[in-house]
Amino acid sequence: MTEILSGPWHEECGVYGVFAPGEDVTALTYLGLYALQHRGQESAGIAVTDGAWMDVSRGMGLVNEVFRHQVPHMDNQRIAIGHVRYSTTGSSLRINTQPLIVNYAGGKISLAHNGNLTNAPEIRHQLEQDGAMFQTSVDTEVILNLIARSRKEKIEDKLAESLNKVKGAYCITLMTETKLIGARDPQGFRPLCVGKLDEGWVLSSESCGLDVIGAHFVRDVYPGEMVIIDDSGLKSVRFAPRQKMASCIFEYIYFARPDSVIDGQSVHEARFNMGRILAREYRPKADIVISVPDSGTTAATGYSYESGIPFCEGLMKNRYIGRTFIQPTQQKRDTAVKLKLNAIRSVVEGKSVIMVDDSIVRGTTSGKIVKMLRNAGAREVHMCVSSPPIGFPCYYGIDTQVRKELIAATKSVDEICKYIEADSLHFLSIEGLKEAMTSVNPEEMCYACFNSDYPVEQGETPASAGKYVFEHKKQSVIEIKK
Ligand code: AMP
Repeated sequence: MTEILSGPWHEECGVYGVFAPGEDVTALTYLGLYALQHRGQESAGIAVTDGAWMDVSRGMGLVNEVFRHQVPHMDNQRIAIGHVRYSTTGSSLRINTQPLIVNYAGGKISLAHNGNLTNAPEIRHQLEQDGAMFQTSVDTEVILNLIARSRKEKIEDKLAESLNKVKGAYCITLMTETKLIGARDPQGFRPLCVGKLDEGWVLSSESCGLDVIGAHFVRDVYPGEMVIIDDSGLKSVRFAPRQKMASCIFEYIYFARPDSVIDGQSVHEARFNMGRILAREYRPKADIVISVPDSGTTAATGYSYESGIPFCEGLMKNRYIGRTFIQPTQQKRDTAVKLKLNAIRSVVEGKSVIMVDDSIVRGTTSGKIVKMLRNAGAREVHMCVSSPPIGFPCYYGIDTQVRKELIAATKSVDEICKYIEADSLHFLSIEGLKEAMTSVNPEEMCYACFNSDYPVEQGETPASAGKYVFEHKKQSVIEIKK
Protein backbone atom coordinates (compact mmCIF):
# COMPACT_ATOMS: atom_id res chain seq x y z
CA MET A 1 0.00 0.00 0.00
CA THR A 2 1.12 3.55 -0.60
CA GLU A 3 1.18 6.84 1.18
CA ILE A 4 -0.87 9.22 -0.92
CA LEU A 5 -0.78 12.56 0.82
CA SER A 6 2.84 13.26 1.53
CA GLY A 7 4.51 11.83 -1.52
CA PRO A 8 4.95 8.73 -3.59
CA TRP A 9 6.03 6.47 -0.74
CA HIS A 10 5.99 2.79 -1.39
CA GLU A 11 5.82 -0.05 1.06
CA GLU A 12 6.50 -3.68 1.12
CA CYS A 13 4.13 -5.55 3.36
CA GLY A 14 2.99 -8.96 4.42
CA VAL A 15 -0.65 -10.07 4.51
CA TYR A 16 -2.23 -13.02 6.24
CA GLY A 17 -5.65 -14.53 6.90
CA VAL A 18 -7.11 -17.51 8.76
CA PHE A 19 -10.60 -18.99 8.43
CA ALA A 20 -11.02 -21.57 11.19
CA PRO A 21 -14.22 -21.26 13.22
CA GLY A 22 -13.66 -22.46 16.76
CA GLU A 23 -9.87 -22.17 16.58
CA ASP A 24 -7.79 -19.42 18.14
CA VAL A 25 -7.49 -17.59 14.82
CA THR A 26 -5.83 -14.51 16.35
CA ALA A 27 -3.05 -16.65 17.83
CA LEU A 28 -2.56 -18.38 14.47
CA THR A 29 -2.45 -15.02 12.72
CA TYR A 30 0.03 -13.72 15.27
CA LEU A 31 2.34 -16.65 14.50
CA GLY A 32 1.86 -16.18 10.77
CA LEU A 33 2.77 -12.50 11.02
CA TYR A 34 5.83 -13.44 13.06
CA ALA A 35 6.98 -15.58 10.12
CA LEU A 36 6.28 -12.68 7.72
CA GLN A 37 8.07 -10.14 9.91
CA HIS A 38 10.82 -9.67 7.29
CA ARG A 39 8.16 -8.18 4.98
CA GLY A 40 7.45 -5.31 7.34
CA GLN A 41 8.85 -4.09 10.59
CA GLU A 42 7.20 -0.77 11.14
CA SER A 43 3.74 -1.77 12.15
CA ALA A 44 1.55 -4.79 12.63
CA GLY A 45 -2.14 -5.46 13.04
CA ILE A 46 -4.69 -8.22 13.47
CA ALA A 47 -8.45 -7.98 12.88
CA VAL A 48 -10.80 -10.69 14.07
CA THR A 49 -14.49 -11.56 13.84
CA ASP A 50 -16.79 -13.96 15.65
CA GLY A 51 -19.35 -13.78 12.87
CA ALA A 52 -21.12 -10.73 14.27
CA TRP A 53 -18.56 -8.38 15.77
CA MET A 54 -15.28 -7.29 14.33
CA ASP A 55 -12.33 -5.89 16.23
CA VAL A 56 -8.82 -4.80 15.35
CA SER A 57 -5.53 -4.28 17.21
CA ARG A 58 -2.82 -2.34 15.45
CA GLY A 59 0.32 -0.54 16.42
CA MET A 60 3.76 0.64 15.45
CA GLY A 61 6.66 -1.78 15.88
CA LEU A 62 7.49 -5.44 15.51
CA VAL A 63 4.82 -8.12 15.86
CA ASN A 64 5.91 -9.12 19.37
CA GLU A 65 6.01 -5.47 20.47
CA VAL A 66 2.61 -4.57 19.08
CA PHE A 67 0.91 -7.64 20.58
CA ARG A 68 2.83 -7.84 23.84
CA HIS A 69 -0.22 -6.71 25.78
CA GLN A 70 -3.02 -6.53 23.29
CA VAL A 71 -3.73 -9.53 21.05
CA PRO A 72 -7.36 -8.92 20.06
CA HIS A 73 -9.55 -11.31 21.97
CA MET A 74 -13.02 -12.56 21.14
CA ASP A 75 -14.94 -15.62 22.25
CA ASN A 76 -15.95 -17.88 19.37
CA GLN A 77 -13.48 -16.38 16.93
CA ARG A 78 -13.98 -17.47 13.34
CA ILE A 79 -11.83 -15.43 11.00
CA ALA A 80 -8.79 -13.19 11.39
CA ILE A 81 -6.60 -11.24 9.00
CA GLY A 82 -3.21 -9.70 9.69
CA HIS A 83 -0.73 -7.25 8.23
CA VAL A 84 2.89 -6.24 8.71
CA ARG A 85 4.07 -3.05 7.17
CA TYR A 86 7.38 -1.63 6.04
CA SER A 87 7.39 1.97 5.01
CA THR A 88 9.40 5.15 4.69
CA THR A 89 9.28 8.40 6.65
CA GLY A 90 6.16 10.21 5.51
CA SER A 91 3.77 7.35 5.98
CA SER A 92 5.10 6.09 9.26
CA LEU A 93 1.98 6.97 11.20
CA ARG A 94 -0.17 4.91 13.53
CA ILE A 95 -3.29 5.96 11.65
CA ASN A 96 -1.98 4.25 8.52
CA THR A 97 -1.47 0.88 10.16
CA GLN A 98 -3.48 -2.05 8.85
CA PRO A 99 -5.75 -4.02 8.65
CA LEU A 100 -8.22 -1.22 8.01
CA ILE A 101 -11.70 -1.84 9.35
CA VAL A 102 -14.94 -0.13 8.28
CA ASN A 103 -18.71 -0.30 8.64
CA TYR A 104 -20.71 0.28 5.48
CA ALA A 105 -24.22 -0.41 4.24
CA GLY A 106 -23.35 -4.06 3.61
CA GLY A 107 -21.86 -4.73 7.06
CA LYS A 108 -18.29 -4.78 8.30
CA ILE A 109 -15.13 -5.26 6.29
CA SER A 110 -11.51 -5.47 7.25
CA LEU A 111 -8.78 -5.24 4.64
CA ALA A 112 -5.01 -5.82 4.53
CA HIS A 113 -3.00 -4.95 1.43
CA ASN A 114 0.50 -5.56 0.07
CA GLY A 115 1.61 -3.70 -3.04
CA ASN A 116 1.16 -0.35 -4.66
CA LEU A 117 -1.84 0.97 -6.60
CA THR A 118 -0.48 3.23 -9.29
CA ASN A 119 -3.75 5.07 -9.95
CA ALA A 120 -4.86 5.45 -6.31
CA PRO A 121 -4.28 9.24 -6.19
CA GLU A 122 -6.61 9.83 -9.17
CA ILE A 123 -9.34 7.56 -7.81
CA ARG A 124 -9.05 9.14 -4.39
CA HIS A 125 -9.32 12.60 -5.89
CA GLN A 126 -12.48 11.62 -7.77
CA LEU A 127 -13.99 10.05 -4.68
CA GLU A 128 -13.19 13.14 -2.61
CA GLN A 129 -14.82 15.32 -5.24
CA ASP A 130 -17.92 13.15 -4.74
CA GLY A 131 -17.84 13.78 -1.00
CA ALA A 132 -15.94 10.73 0.25
CA MET A 133 -13.94 11.18 3.44
CA PHE A 134 -10.71 9.37 4.10
CA GLN A 135 -9.28 8.57 7.48
CA THR A 136 -5.84 7.44 6.38
CA SER A 137 -3.40 8.44 3.69
CA VAL A 138 -2.85 4.96 2.28
CA ASP A 139 -4.18 3.71 -1.02
CA THR A 140 -5.79 0.68 0.60
CA GLU A 141 -8.63 2.90 1.76
CA VAL A 142 -9.45 3.63 -1.88
CA ILE A 143 -10.38 -0.04 -2.34
CA LEU A 144 -12.67 0.10 0.69
CA ASN A 145 -14.42 3.20 -0.67
CA LEU A 146 -14.91 1.56 -4.04
CA ILE A 147 -16.41 -1.51 -2.36
CA ALA A 148 -18.77 0.64 -0.28
CA ARG A 149 -19.99 2.41 -3.42
CA SER A 150 -20.50 -0.69 -5.51
CA ARG A 151 -24.12 -1.55 -6.38
CA LYS A 152 -23.34 -5.26 -6.68
CA GLU A 153 -24.90 -7.53 -4.14
CA LYS A 154 -22.26 -9.96 -3.02
CA ILE A 155 -18.99 -8.86 -1.45
CA GLU A 156 -16.98 -10.85 -3.99
CA ASP A 157 -18.72 -9.03 -6.84
CA LYS A 158 -18.21 -5.66 -5.16
CA LEU A 159 -14.54 -6.49 -4.68
CA ALA A 160 -14.16 -7.72 -8.27
CA GLU A 161 -15.68 -4.50 -9.56
CA SER A 162 -13.40 -2.42 -7.34
CA LEU A 163 -10.25 -4.31 -8.25
CA ASN A 164 -10.99 -3.86 -11.92
CA LYS A 165 -10.80 -0.11 -11.34
CA VAL A 166 -7.41 -0.08 -9.65
CA LYS A 167 -4.06 -0.49 -11.37
CA GLY A 168 -0.72 -1.71 -10.21
CA ALA A 169 0.39 -4.36 -7.77
CA TYR A 170 -1.68 -5.82 -4.98
CA CYS A 171 -2.28 -8.85 -2.89
CA ILE A 172 -5.04 -8.49 -0.36
CA THR A 173 -6.73 -10.39 2.41
CA LEU A 174 -10.24 -9.19 3.17
CA MET A 175 -12.64 -10.32 5.86
CA THR A 176 -16.37 -9.86 6.34
CA GLU A 177 -18.30 -11.33 9.27
CA THR A 178 -18.61 -14.63 7.36
CA LYS A 179 -15.99 -14.71 4.62
CA LEU A 180 -12.25 -14.61 4.17
CA ILE A 181 -11.20 -13.44 0.70
CA GLY A 182 -7.77 -13.29 -0.92
CA ALA A 183 -6.97 -11.64 -4.25
CA ARG A 184 -3.86 -11.20 -6.38
CA ASP A 185 -3.48 -8.62 -9.14
CA PRO A 186 -3.76 -9.81 -12.75
CA GLN A 187 -0.01 -9.79 -13.26
CA GLY A 188 0.89 -11.45 -9.99
CA PHE A 189 3.50 -8.91 -8.93
CA ARG A 190 3.37 -9.88 -5.26
CA PRO A 191 3.03 -13.40 -3.85
CA LEU A 192 0.03 -14.90 -2.08
CA CYS A 193 -0.63 -18.55 -1.31
CA VAL A 194 -3.35 -20.75 0.15
CA GLY A 195 -2.86 -23.26 2.94
CA LYS A 196 -5.09 -25.82 4.61
CA LEU A 197 -5.51 -26.58 8.29
CA ASP A 198 -7.39 -29.67 9.48
CA GLU A 199 -10.42 -27.48 10.09
CA GLY A 200 -9.75 -24.32 8.17
CA TRP A 201 -7.93 -22.31 5.56
CA VAL A 202 -5.00 -19.91 5.57
CA LEU A 203 -3.86 -17.17 3.21
CA SER A 204 -0.29 -15.94 3.45
CA SER A 205 2.04 -13.69 1.49
CA GLU A 206 4.64 -16.44 1.66
CA SER A 207 4.61 -20.16 2.29
CA CYS A 208 6.84 -19.74 5.38
CA GLY A 209 3.72 -18.25 7.01
CA LEU A 210 1.92 -21.56 6.47
CA ASP A 211 4.76 -23.74 7.75
CA VAL A 212 4.88 -21.94 11.08
CA ILE A 213 1.34 -22.99 12.02
CA GLY A 214 1.54 -26.43 10.43
CA ALA A 215 -0.79 -25.53 7.55
CA HIS A 216 -0.41 -27.64 4.46
CA PHE A 217 0.49 -25.68 1.29
CA VAL A 218 -2.34 -25.95 -1.25
CA ARG A 219 -1.24 -23.61 -4.03
CA ASP A 220 -0.44 -20.04 -4.99
CA VAL A 221 -3.32 -17.70 -5.73
CA TYR A 222 -3.29 -17.18 -9.49
CA PRO A 223 -2.87 -13.72 -10.94
CA GLY A 224 -6.30 -12.16 -11.43
CA GLU A 225 -7.86 -14.71 -9.07
CA MET A 226 -9.95 -14.22 -5.96
CA VAL A 227 -10.38 -17.04 -3.45
CA ILE A 228 -13.47 -16.89 -1.27
CA ILE A 229 -13.53 -18.97 1.87
CA ASP A 230 -16.62 -19.49 4.01
CA ASP A 231 -18.46 -22.29 5.77
CA SER A 232 -19.04 -24.05 2.46
CA GLY A 233 -15.31 -24.27 1.64
CA LEU A 234 -13.11 -22.43 -0.82
CA LYS A 235 -14.27 -21.06 -4.16
CA SER A 236 -12.15 -19.46 -6.80
CA VAL A 237 -13.26 -16.62 -9.05
CA ARG A 238 -11.27 -15.08 -11.85
CA PHE A 239 -12.03 -11.38 -11.50
CA ALA A 240 -9.83 -10.22 -14.38
CA PRO A 241 -8.42 -11.88 -17.47
CA ARG A 242 -5.03 -13.33 -16.84
CA GLN A 243 -2.24 -11.35 -18.42
CA LYS A 244 1.37 -12.10 -19.02
CA MET A 245 2.69 -12.57 -15.51
CA ALA A 246 5.12 -10.05 -14.11
CA SER A 247 6.00 -11.40 -10.69
CA CYS A 248 8.64 -9.38 -8.91
CA ILE A 249 12.16 -10.74 -9.33
CA PHE A 250 13.25 -8.78 -6.25
CA GLU A 251 11.16 -11.11 -4.06
CA TYR A 252 13.61 -13.86 -5.04
CA ILE A 253 16.72 -11.66 -4.84
CA TYR A 254 16.13 -10.04 -1.48
CA PHE A 255 12.69 -9.68 -0.15
CA ALA A 256 11.14 -13.10 0.45
CA ARG A 257 12.44 -15.59 3.00
CA PRO A 258 14.66 -18.32 1.49
CA ASP A 259 12.50 -21.08 2.99
CA SER A 260 9.48 -19.83 1.03
CA VAL A 261 8.38 -21.23 -2.31
CA ILE A 262 6.71 -18.70 -4.61
CA ASP A 263 4.83 -19.78 -7.72
CA GLY A 264 6.63 -23.11 -7.55
CA GLN A 265 10.12 -21.62 -7.29
CA SER A 266 12.10 -22.16 -4.10
CA VAL A 267 13.51 -18.79 -3.06
CA HIS A 268 16.58 -20.51 -1.60
CA GLU A 269 17.28 -22.40 -4.80
CA ALA A 270 16.92 -19.24 -6.89
CA ARG A 271 19.28 -17.32 -4.60
CA PHE A 272 21.82 -20.16 -4.45
CA ASN A 273 21.76 -20.34 -8.25
CA MET A 274 22.29 -16.58 -8.48
CA GLY A 275 25.49 -17.07 -6.44
CA ARG A 276 26.63 -19.97 -8.60
CA ILE A 277 26.07 -18.06 -11.82
CA LEU A 278 27.74 -14.99 -10.35
CA ALA A 279 30.84 -17.13 -9.74
CA ARG A 280 30.75 -18.28 -13.35
CA GLU A 281 30.50 -14.70 -14.56
CA TYR A 282 33.26 -13.25 -12.39
CA ARG A 283 35.83 -14.97 -10.23
CA PRO A 284 38.74 -12.87 -9.01
CA LYS A 285 41.63 -14.65 -7.28
CA ALA A 286 40.73 -14.66 -3.60
CA ASP A 287 41.20 -16.59 -0.34
CA ILE A 288 37.67 -16.59 1.02
CA VAL A 289 34.07 -15.81 0.17
CA ILE A 290 32.08 -13.92 2.79
CA SER A 291 28.51 -12.66 2.78
CA VAL A 292 26.69 -9.61 3.97
CA PRO A 293 24.39 -11.37 6.41
CA ASP A 294 21.65 -12.39 6.20
CA SER A 295 20.36 -11.38 2.81
CA GLY A 296 23.64 -12.11 0.95
CA THR A 297 24.35 -15.45 2.61
CA THR A 298 22.45 -17.85 0.34
CA ALA A 299 24.03 -16.37 -2.80
CA ALA A 300 27.46 -16.37 -1.12
CA THR A 301 27.17 -20.10 -0.37
CA GLY A 302 26.24 -20.64 -4.02
CA TYR A 303 29.26 -18.61 -5.07
CA SER A 304 31.53 -20.67 -2.83
CA TYR A 305 30.01 -23.96 -4.03
CA GLU A 306 30.58 -23.08 -7.66
CA SER A 307 34.03 -21.51 -7.27
CA GLY A 308 35.47 -23.89 -4.68
CA ILE A 309 36.63 -20.84 -2.68
CA PRO A 310 35.77 -21.47 1.00
CA PHE A 311 32.84 -19.64 2.53
CA CYS A 312 33.67 -18.01 5.88
CA GLU A 313 31.72 -15.88 8.30
CA GLY A 314 33.59 -12.59 7.87
CA LEU A 315 30.92 -10.25 9.18
CA MET A 316 28.98 -10.58 12.40
CA LYS A 317 25.43 -9.35 12.43
CA ASN A 318 23.68 -7.94 15.44
CA ARG A 319 20.38 -9.79 15.12
CA TYR A 320 18.46 -7.52 17.43
CA ILE A 321 17.98 -4.65 15.02
CA GLY A 322 15.89 -4.36 11.88
CA ARG A 323 16.92 -3.89 8.28
CA THR A 324 19.00 -0.79 7.61
CA PHE A 325 16.65 0.56 4.98
CA ILE A 326 14.11 1.27 7.61
CA GLN A 327 16.11 4.28 8.78
CA PRO A 328 14.53 7.26 7.09
CA THR A 329 17.48 9.62 6.78
CA GLN A 330 20.90 8.99 5.26
CA GLN A 331 22.67 9.90 8.51
CA LYS A 332 20.61 7.39 10.47
CA ARG A 333 21.22 4.75 7.79
CA ASP A 334 24.99 5.27 8.13
CA THR A 335 24.92 4.64 11.87
CA ALA A 336 22.60 1.70 11.42
CA VAL A 337 25.12 -0.16 9.24
CA LYS A 338 27.76 0.05 12.01
CA LEU A 339 25.24 -0.98 14.60
CA LYS A 340 24.20 -3.93 12.52
CA LEU A 341 27.49 -5.35 11.21
CA ASN A 342 31.06 -5.79 12.39
CA ALA A 343 34.02 -7.49 10.70
CA ILE A 344 35.60 -10.59 12.26
CA ARG A 345 39.28 -9.68 12.21
CA SER A 346 40.61 -13.21 12.66
CA VAL A 347 38.74 -14.29 9.52
CA VAL A 348 39.58 -11.46 7.13
CA GLU A 349 43.00 -10.20 8.28
CA GLY A 350 45.59 -10.47 5.52
CA LYS A 351 43.06 -12.11 3.17
CA SER A 352 41.80 -11.32 -0.26
CA VAL A 353 38.05 -11.40 0.24
CA ILE A 354 35.12 -11.83 -2.13
CA MET A 355 32.16 -10.19 -0.46
CA VAL A 356 28.72 -11.20 -1.77
CA ASP A 357 25.60 -9.15 -1.20
CA ASP A 358 22.22 -9.44 -2.85
CA SER A 359 21.98 -5.85 -4.07
CA ILE A 360 23.35 -2.34 -4.05
CA VAL A 361 20.64 0.29 -3.79
CA ARG A 362 22.05 3.58 -2.53
CA GLY A 363 25.56 2.26 -1.93
CA THR A 364 25.47 3.00 1.81
CA THR A 365 25.90 -0.55 3.08
CA SER A 366 28.63 -1.71 0.71
CA GLY A 367 30.78 1.41 1.12
CA LYS A 368 30.69 1.09 4.91
CA ILE A 369 31.42 -2.63 4.86
CA VAL A 370 34.36 -2.37 2.48
CA LYS A 371 35.89 0.17 4.85
CA MET A 372 35.11 -2.05 7.84
CA LEU A 373 36.83 -5.02 6.22
CA ARG A 374 39.91 -2.99 5.36
CA ASN A 375 40.08 -1.67 8.92
CA ALA A 376 39.99 -5.28 10.07
CA GLY A 377 43.02 -6.03 7.90
CA ALA A 378 41.50 -7.42 4.67
CA ARG A 379 44.13 -7.18 1.91
CA GLU A 380 41.67 -6.95 -0.98
CA VAL A 381 37.89 -6.64 -1.11
CA HIS A 382 36.11 -7.78 -4.29
CA MET A 383 32.41 -7.09 -4.21
CA CYS A 384 30.09 -9.46 -6.05
CA VAL A 385 26.41 -8.59 -6.21
CA SER A 386 23.83 -11.27 -6.94
CA SER A 387 21.57 -8.90 -8.89
CA PRO A 388 22.08 -6.38 -11.71
CA PRO A 389 22.50 -2.65 -10.93
CA ILE A 390 19.22 -1.10 -9.76
CA GLY A 391 18.92 1.92 -12.02
CA PHE A 392 15.16 2.49 -12.01
CA PRO A 393 12.46 3.04 -9.43
CA CYS A 394 9.86 0.44 -8.51
CA TYR A 395 6.21 1.45 -8.77
CA TYR A 396 4.89 -1.88 -7.58
CA GLY A 397 5.66 -1.97 -3.90
CA ILE A 398 9.43 -2.16 -3.37
CA ASP A 399 10.99 0.75 -1.54
CA THR A 400 13.31 1.97 -4.32
CA GLN A 401 11.16 4.74 -5.64
CA VAL A 402 13.39 7.80 -5.68
CA ARG A 403 15.52 7.44 -8.77
CA LYS A 404 18.15 10.00 -7.84
CA GLU A 405 18.87 8.03 -4.65
CA LEU A 406 19.70 4.90 -6.63
CA ILE A 407 23.45 4.86 -7.08
CA ALA A 408 23.25 2.95 -10.36
CA ALA A 409 20.96 5.63 -11.81
CA THR A 410 23.80 8.12 -11.86
CA LYS A 411 27.01 6.09 -11.73
CA SER A 412 28.59 3.44 -13.95
CA VAL A 413 29.83 0.15 -12.45
CA ASP A 414 33.39 1.53 -12.39
CA GLU A 415 32.23 4.68 -10.66
CA ILE A 416 30.27 2.67 -8.08
CA CYS A 417 33.36 0.54 -7.50
CA LYS A 418 35.38 3.69 -6.81
CA TYR A 419 32.61 5.12 -4.64
CA ILE A 420 32.48 2.07 -2.39
CA GLU A 421 36.29 1.79 -2.56
CA ALA A 422 36.31 -1.89 -3.49
CA ASP A 423 39.16 -3.50 -5.43
CA SER A 424 36.67 -4.75 -7.98
CA LEU A 425 32.92 -4.92 -8.43
CA HIS A 426 30.70 -7.21 -10.45
CA PHE A 427 26.90 -7.33 -10.75
CA LEU A 428 25.05 -10.43 -11.91
CA SER A 429 23.80 -10.00 -15.47
CA ILE A 430 20.07 -10.03 -16.26
CA GLU A 431 20.67 -13.17 -18.36
CA GLY A 432 22.37 -14.80 -15.36
CA LEU A 433 19.48 -13.78 -13.14
CA LYS A 434 17.00 -15.34 -15.53
CA GLU A 435 19.06 -18.53 -15.68
CA ALA A 436 18.84 -18.80 -11.88
CA MET A 437 15.06 -19.12 -12.06
CA THR A 438 14.71 -22.82 -12.69
CA SER A 439 11.08 -23.53 -11.76
CA VAL A 440 9.26 -20.45 -13.06
CA ASN A 441 9.24 -18.90 -16.49
CA PRO A 442 11.84 -16.11 -16.22
CA GLU A 443 10.11 -14.27 -19.05
CA GLU A 444 7.03 -13.89 -16.83
CA MET A 445 8.75 -11.71 -14.26
CA CYS A 446 9.20 -7.99 -13.69
CA TYR A 447 12.78 -6.70 -14.07
CA ALA A 448 11.80 -3.04 -14.32
CA CYS A 449 14.15 -1.88 -11.56
CA PHE A 450 17.02 -3.18 -13.70
CA ASN A 451 15.88 -2.43 -17.24
CA SER A 452 12.95 0.05 -16.92
CA ASP A 453 10.68 -2.34 -18.78
CA TYR A 454 7.57 -1.54 -16.73
CA PRO A 455 4.80 -4.10 -17.15
CA VAL A 456 2.01 -1.66 -16.28
CA GLU A 457 2.36 1.77 -17.78
CA GLN A 458 1.25 4.56 -15.50
CA GLY A 459 -2.29 5.30 -16.67
CA GLU A 460 -2.88 1.92 -18.31
CA THR A 461 -5.27 -0.55 -16.70
CA PRO A 462 -3.79 -3.90 -15.74
CA ALA A 463 -6.65 -5.53 -17.61
CA SER A 464 -5.60 -3.88 -20.86
CA ALA A 465 -1.84 -3.93 -20.39
CA GLY A 466 0.42 -6.59 -21.83
CA LYS A 467 -0.59 -9.62 -23.80
CA TYR A 468 -3.27 -11.98 -22.55
CA VAL A 469 -1.99 -15.47 -22.07
CA PHE A 470 -5.38 -16.94 -21.21
CA GLU A 471 -8.85 -15.58 -21.73
CA HIS A 472 -11.28 -16.60 -19.05
CA LYS A 473 -14.92 -15.83 -18.57
CA LYS A 474 -14.87 -13.08 -16.03
CA GLN A 475 -16.87 -14.67 -13.28
CA SER A 476 -16.41 -18.36 -13.95
CA VAL A 477 -16.48 -20.20 -10.66
CA ILE A 478 -14.24 -23.14 -10.08
CA GLU A 479 -15.21 -25.26 -7.10
CA ILE A 480 -12.24 -26.54 -5.20
CA LYS A 481 -12.69 -29.34 -2.75
CA LYS A 482 -13.35 -28.28 0.79
P1 AMP B 1 22.25 0.27 0.11
O1 AMP B 1 23.04 0.33 1.35
O2 AMP B 1 21.31 1.43 -0.01
O3 AMP B 1 23.05 0.08 -1.11
O4 AMP B 1 21.28 -0.97 0.26
C1 AMP B 1 21.75 -2.25 0.00
C2 AMP B 1 21.42 -3.17 1.14
O5 AMP B 1 20.04 -3.06 1.47
C3 AMP B 1 21.68 -4.59 0.76
O6 AMP B 1 22.46 -5.20 1.79
C4 AMP B 1 20.33 -5.24 0.63
O7 AMP B 1 20.33 -6.50 1.25
C5 AMP B 1 19.38 -4.29 1.31
N1 AMP B 1 18.19 -3.99 0.49
C6 AMP B 1 18.02 -4.07 -0.82
N2 AMP B 1 16.78 -3.70 -1.19
C7 AMP B 1 16.12 -3.36 -0.09
C8 AMP B 1 14.81 -2.91 0.21
N3 AMP B 1 13.91 -2.72 -0.75
N4 AMP B 1 14.48 -2.68 1.49
C9 AMP B 1 15.39 -2.87 2.45
N5 AMP B 1 16.65 -3.28 2.25
C10 AMP B 1 17.04 -3.54 1.01
